[in-house]
Amino acid sequence: MPDFSLTPEQENLRDLARKFARTEMAPHAAECDRTSRFPEEIYRRAYELGLMNLNVPTEYGGSGLGLFDQSLIVEELAYACGGMTTSTIANCLALEPILLDGTPEQKERLLTPFCAEYHLASFALTEPSGGSDPGAMRTLAQKDGDDYLVTGEKCFISNAPNASLYTVFATIDPKLRHKGVTAFAVPRTAEGLSVGPDEEKMGHRASSTATVRFDRVRVPAADRLGPEGNGFSLAMRTLDQTRTPIGALATGIAQAALDHAARYSLKRETFGKPIAEHQAIQIKLATMAQAVQASRLLTWHSAWTIDRGQRGTFESSMAKCFASDTAFAVADQAIQIFGGYGYMREYPVEKLLRDAKLTQIYEGANEIQRTVIARELLRKYA
Ligand SMILES: Cc1cc2nc3c(=O)[nH]c(=O)nc-3n(C[C@H](O)[C@H](O)[C@H](O)COP(=O)(O)OP(=O)(O)OC[C@H]3O[C@@H](n4cnc5c(N)ncnc54)[C@H](O)[C@@H]3O)c2cc1C
Repeated sequence: MPDFSLTPEQENLRDLARKFARTEMAPHAAECDRTSRFPEEIYRRAYELGLMNLNVPTEYGGSGLGLFDQSLIVEELAYACGGMTTSTIANCLALEPILLDGTPEQKERLLTPFCAEYHLASFALTEPSGGSDPGAMRTLAQKDGDDYLVTGEKCFISNAPNASLYTVFATIDPKLRHKGVTAFAVPRTAEGLSVGPDEEKMGHRASSTATVRFDRVRVPAADRLGPEGNGFSLAMRTLDQTRTPIGALATGIAQAALDHAARYSLKRETFGKPIAEHQAIQIKLATMAQAVQASRLLTWHSAWTIDRGQRGTFESSMAKCFASDTAFAVADQAIQIFGGYGYMREYPVEKLLRDAKLTQIYEGANEIQRTVIARELLRKYA
């Protein structure tokens, strides 16, 4: 019989993340948002607490958690700050291709340093010419003896200004489209690799985002992840793993918006009574609460499906898409319930809307998620 209760270990994990999020992240969230500060001391602390390399197996020094446990943690972190959560979990995204297709030697060599001390890694797939269609990528990996020379540009890369390693997707021949895409692990110190300035963003302003340029960067074949032409499949399998935590991240933002709105509605009075007593507000709160719970359950179900060894493309796309649309809609309604104050920076809910927006775009925009969901769905009827 399905069981929604958490084990004592899961409760401990969730409590650890909740305590860290509410006592160490939340007090700095507004300031980091306002000034676009990358709070490295908070990310170091997340690393120390074992809240960073969540998906890396314990044999390499990571936390070795399944997606269900990761989702519990990520929701708690995002409740305090979406941007800090993006930067905290970016290592999971960047290191997943190594976990999936790295050789035992590559895993030992590339993963262990990330767990031995605080380091950040970035996942570099998106290019200025488009993120939704990786088969059209232009970053070129030309064979040169036993090495590759990588030339091109990746944009919107989370943690890029602060990363020491990049998992990079390039094509050995653009004419091959998907079949040419090949993945590499490239250190920050590689000659010809440069990182652009931190982007000025609408939300997730405690996270850093930049362009990474490759000018004939020499990458040894020993740092290729999987065979040539395997990169598209690797990127898709990576995102199958990491979409579920984005569902959890969105759920955390949505839960925070609901909590702020419900508390405010009990205090704010109009027409001689708290606005919570007006039915229009009650209907809003009820609809918000339903959507938040549905997001959490879709996320948990996706995590459970993948933790049981299934690929979970359908489930994780549904969780990410639904939870992110919910986060945006619930934050929007929270602003409405706050009225004019909701529009002011001084109050917490306008940040939640700005942070929620990104969850509808990154790790595959929701239009693409719906395409994936429909494709997987129709397969069952064909
Ligand atoms: C803050 C931030 C952080 C990010 N971090 C990373 C990162 O760490 N690593 C990384 O590789 N990328 C990252 N991204 C990139 C992100 O994944 C892409 O922005 C996203 O995949 C969309 O790609 P695009 O922006 O090029 O939009 P496009 O691909 O140009 O799409 C534009 C619009 O058209 C829609 N669209 C495209 N094709 C179709 C279609 N076939 N059917 C219907 N609609 C379609 C899209 O859904 C979107 O709404 C980040 C982005 C942001 C904003």
